[in-house]
Amino acid sequence: MDDPVMEKNEIFDYMAANGHEKLLCFQNEEVGLRAVLAIHSTVLGPAAGGCRMWTYSDDLAAMEDALRLSKGMTYKYAAAGINLGGGKIVVIGDPKRQEGREMLFRSLGRFIDSLGGEYLTGEDVGTTLQDMDHMRVETRNVITLPESAGGAGPIGPATAFGVLQAMRACIEQHTGSPSLQGKRVVVQGLGAVGVPMVKYLVDEGATVVVSDIDPAKVAAMVDTYGATAIAAADVVAADVDVYCPCALGATLNDESLAVLKAPIVCGSANNQLAEPRHGDQLHERGVLYAPDYIANAGGTVFDTDRLWGGVNKDRGMAKVSTIYERMHEIFTISKTDDVPTYVAADRLAEARINGYKAIKRVHGFDQGQKVTI
Ligand code: NAD
Repeated sequence: MDDPVMEKNEIFDYMAANGHEKLLCFQNEEVGLRAVLAIHSTVLGPAAGGCRMWTYSDDLAAMEDALRLSKGMTYKYAAAGINLGGGKIVVIGDPKRQEGREMLFRSLGRFIDSLGGEYLTGEDVGTTLQDMDHMRVETRNVITLPESAGGAGPIGPATAFGVLQAMRACIEQHTGSPSLQGKRVVVQGLGAVGVPMVKYLVDEGATVVVSDIDPAKVAAMVDTYGATAIAAADVVAADVDVYCPCALGATLNDESLAVLKAPIVCGSANNQLAEPRHGDQLHERGVLYAPDYIANAGGTVFDTDRLWGGVNKDRGMAKVSTIYERMHEIFTISKTDDVPTYVAADRLAEARINGYKAIKRVHGFDQGQKVTI
């Protein structure tokens, strides 16, 4: 049979090289659903990760995105000490589509349900809490839900609290004390994470500089917290102790590294390094980089905590606060192995996965893998 796309793009080689377990496609023409689920790992527990909706250029681009993102989830949970594996669903389509949206997501919910708990989903780029509600009608295996539906509610503040813990560890590494009193921090992006971030920083006694492409958001932070505004173009070159990216990814690139002044980079944005070599360059220059998936894990740690005993916000936030200790573990690996922090984070995650594989080989299925949803 002629199958040039697969031959040309070597999807199985990609999966083998990255250790993926499964790639599943699901379509329901009647409701206009085309979705791809990648399950990277179920070693630590059921695969979990959000449901993204995006207009991909072609089917292969969707598969690659699902595969790449699912691996990221495995590492995020493993490093955070959470007993979940990594997975990701991508729905191919316009995220703004409204017509027929209920049945599209209910159909997807049925697909997820047919997997018997092997994959748990949540909100991601292009999907909403309403979409989660639709899926929840068809399957229990939806993590991100409003409080009214038994979920943990908004996770931005927990993400910001986790970034704060990572920042305290970075400051301590530099100065010997985790105190943010008097430290200058520039927060780039004032959205679901950036706004609570500014509040936490002000509460800690930091001097906060803010930037957003939306002037109204900047004005609100200046008025409410006495923050200082800075133009979006000047953020990376700002003379501050910490650069805190909370907007887009890939802000650590050739251009920004040429002007970066801050000795610490610690924020919530995903995929901050445009390429791994930028992480190497930061290491060589002595700039302390808090690996993105370690620093920004707070929201998902908080959100998934209910799988082990129901919603308990105090317990969830206590778990989030361990990001501080995790960062110190990463500094130790970075120093001992003489590797950049982003490599140290991967080593921490891999050590946990491999450690668990070892005990599983001896004891087989373990009760600790069970979750209640
Ligand atoms: P959001 O969409 O609520 O806010 C992003 C903000 O960044 C918006 O106010 C937008 O106007 C602003 N922005 C966009 N481009 C900008 C630029 N060039 N300069 C300055 N500001 C700019 O997003 P969010 O939920 O706050 O997430 C922020 C980042 O953190 C994203 O990269 C996201 O993937 C990541 N993240 C978020 C969470 C979470 O809990 N929401 C968890 C993990 C990671």
